[in-house]
Amino acid sequence: LDQLEAEIEERKKAEQEARHQLILKQATEELMAKKDEFMSIASHELKTPITSVKASLQILQRMAYKSEALQPVAPFVNKAARQVNKLTDIIHELLDVTRIQAGKLELYKTEFNLLELIKECVDQCDVDGKKHKIQIEGDKELQVCADKNRLDQVLCNLLTNAIKYSPANFLINVCFEKLENGTIKISVADSGIGIPADKIENIFDRFYRVENTSQYYSGVGLGLFISSEIIKRHGGEIGVESQQGKGSTFWFAI
Ligand code: ADP
Repeated sequence: LDQLEAEIEERKKAEQEARHQLILKQATEELMAKKDEFMSIASHELKTPITSVKASLQILQRMAYKSEALQPVAPFVNKAARQVNKLTDIIHELLDVTRIQAGKLELYKTEFNLLELIKECVDQCDVDGKKHKIQIEGDKELQVCADKNRLDQVLCNLLTNAIKYSPANFLINVCFEKLENGTIKISVADSGIGIPADKIENIFDRFYRVENTSQYYSGVGLGLFISSEIIKRHGGEIGVESQQGKGSTFWFAI
């Protein structure tokens, strides 16, 4: 009888534990949904005023460029414009996350030359004026059928990270090739700070940042999450090989 009572007690405890787990899971899901809703509202509400500030700053920049009298304020206007551009990028990332969560990340595929796109990305990528040697290797005739703007976003994100997380003047290699099965593989390799082995599995998660980097480098931890969703929507794969202190090679195949 004692044994039976002990068994009943144990079963009750297990049931209570399972109920607690379920409540916790539901509460976490509700919180995540509220967080997503807040992010969606906040980013939509921020978009309009930021666009207006950006437009006004552009007018001021043009005026300062033309007028001798406004020259002293030009550096301040330029600085404000740079910061507003950063804010705009963050808002676009938040809007992308909202789109992804709602399953509304649309792709508009066209055919284009891959090398040209990579060169455009290399020209655009600017992390606080930090200089790097960027080497590109691949077949200059290679055509790709994909969403050009979205692929540009992935490449710019990987390149910006390679620049951000490695010392100035270090070499960054961008390689691309068409594999035998028709897949196109693109990699961005840096010899920067690298990623600790136990952090690699989380690196593509939403808002994930490696602790030691978040102290020293600005960012919100969305670029890799968005990039991986874009590549998945293309039916492709994304990954990284990295060694702490030695560097990282991010790659994707579509
Ligand atoms: P962010 O750079 O804004 O933090 P990402 O999603 O692009 O967001 O990257 C997530 C994290 O992955 C970064 O915070 C950083 O810790 C790590 N990471 C990304 N790229 C690299 C890289 N090339 N070298 C080292 N760490 C990287």
